Amino acid sequence: MSLPDYSDFHLQFTFESLIELQKSYLELWIPLLLLPFDAEEWFKKLSEYFDILHISAHEETGNWETFQRDIKVLSYCKRSAINITEYPTNWVVRILKNRDHWQKIWTQRMSKNIFTAKVVLNTIKIPTKLCDISKQTKTQYLEYFKTYRNNNLQSWWESQGMKVLENFLENRSMKYMYNISKPFESQTWCSRLSPYITYWCLSLKSVLQATEQKRQELKNIWSQAAKNHRKSLQYFISRLHWQSHFIQKLEDEPEMQFRNLNRDFDTIRQEINTELIERVFSSKSGIPYIDAVIRQLQQTGWCNFRSRALLVSFICNTCQQPWQAIAPRVAALFTDYEPGIHYPQFQMQAATTGINTVRIYNPVYNWQQKDPEWKFIYHFMPELKNVPIEFIHEPHLWEWFETLDYPQPIIDIKSANKIAKDLLWTTKWNVLKSDKDKIIKKHASRVFHWDRRKKKTPTKNLQNENQITLF
Ligand SMILES: Cc1cc2nc3c(=O)[nH]c(=O)nc-3n(C[C@H](O)[C@H](O)[C@H](O)COP(=O)(O)OP(=O)(O)OC[C@H]3O[C@@H](n4cnc5c(N)ncnc54)[C@H](O)[C@@H]3O)c2cc1C
Repeated sequence: MSLPDYSDFHLQFTFESLIELQKSYLELWIPLLLLPFDAEEWFKKLSEYFDILHISAHEETGNWETFQRDIKVLSYCKRSAINITEYPTNWVVRILKNRDHWQKIWTQRMSKNIFTAKVVLNTIKIPTKLCDISKQTKTQYLEYFKTYRNNNLQSWWESQGMKVLENFLENRSMKYMYNISKPFESQTWCSRLSPYITYWCLSLKSVLQATEQKRQELKNIWSQAAKNHRKSLQYFISRLHWQSHFIQKLEDEPEMQFRNLNRDFDTIRQEINTELIERVFSSKSGIPYIDAVIRQLQQTGWCNFRSRALLVSFICNTCQQPWQAIAPRVAALFTDYEPGIHYPQFQMQAATTGINTVRIYNPVYNWQQKDPEWKFIYHFMPELKNVPIEFIHEPHLWEWFETLDYPQPIIDIKSANKIAKDLLWTTKWNVLKSDKDKIIKKHASRVFHWDRRKKKTPTKNLQNENQITLF
């Protein structure tokens, strides 16, 4: 909890999910304890009361810390002659020998039946001392969230996740495809399922199967609306594939959390400009769109894919900051923080994979198309409410700029982008072919995705880049 990529957003979501889980477990007479210990310490405490013969756990692909915890627990089990079985969590394959086989394994796992917990287990009696610790922990967090609860965050439990899923499949997915990239409308029309998937309130398998079922139902309806709806759902399904595809990368190379995937990029962007970073994170960059994204994240814990990509590209490419300096801080602002998506995506947007195209955007150009009325900026930046629409993306050019409580831009995007483009493309072209081949073999997708048909040939005019070229 004290790590820089962790925040109250995650604590609130996980704590409230656990309380809900505790309630549903009670119906099955299964006790769920909240114990604020390090895992090894917890097993040691438990062994004061029981002979532990076997531990059943799930396979987790978290951050570096959880990876180290896994290693510690495995070593504890070995030392204490305890058997341990870790079960796959749907998608990621442990010790994947060959990426060529990954998609097949994923599809097999995703098409398996979903189990419903109906069985009432014979449970053991939990020692009073442990029950007391659990109660105290719960009370302590309930008290904490009386003061610090953020009511704008998405809400937590499984039944809520089911509602979000049902509502999305029945209604919101109809316009998903058309709104996914719009900063304002995406708040409503995106699935908004990411935190439920991240914290396993909903399994990816159940989301995928429910979506497939909806697509089948729509096949029987002969109308343009149903056809468009199906197309939107297909778009969504592609994203569910990406979820696992990305997490597999971190599973296969946990060092990706700290190190450039392609080490040729180690020589560039080494200096951290703390003042610049602070201005961005206090929404005082003087670039309204970037400031609005930070406000949206601070207030709601969410923004859409395009805003995430744009924010990272702005700080790392336009402003030449090392991605390692901001990735944990950005993670702390995403309620749905999933290390396996986060770090590989960060490296992709910061252009350090060496196998993906360089992504440099001009936020003004990008958002004029996606939000011509600039609703997003007016909503999250009330201090700019009097700025006329023709100046809203560059308020420093407005004649009454001095009257605003808003700073000059921290950077001239156009000229900075030009320098960044030269630097990143030159570094990328110099990447050794053998290094590229190694990375492609280990990490690249082998699948032809439905929406990749629209992929454009990588263009040097990156302002126009199609967001779909993700891999
Ligand atoms: C720099 C960066 C960091 C990111 N960090 C995270 C993260 O920590 N956690 C996270 O869940 N997503 C992350 N994403 C991916 C994506 O932006 C979010 O999943 C999405 O915006 C969540 O909103 P939604 O649930 O409405 O998604 P939808 O667009 O409705 O997508 C449905 C689901 O598909 C998966 N998904 C969607 N887009 C992607 C993608 N590009 N890559 C992998 N999986 C995807 C997610 O599980 C998502 O919930 C990141 C993207 C970028 C560019």
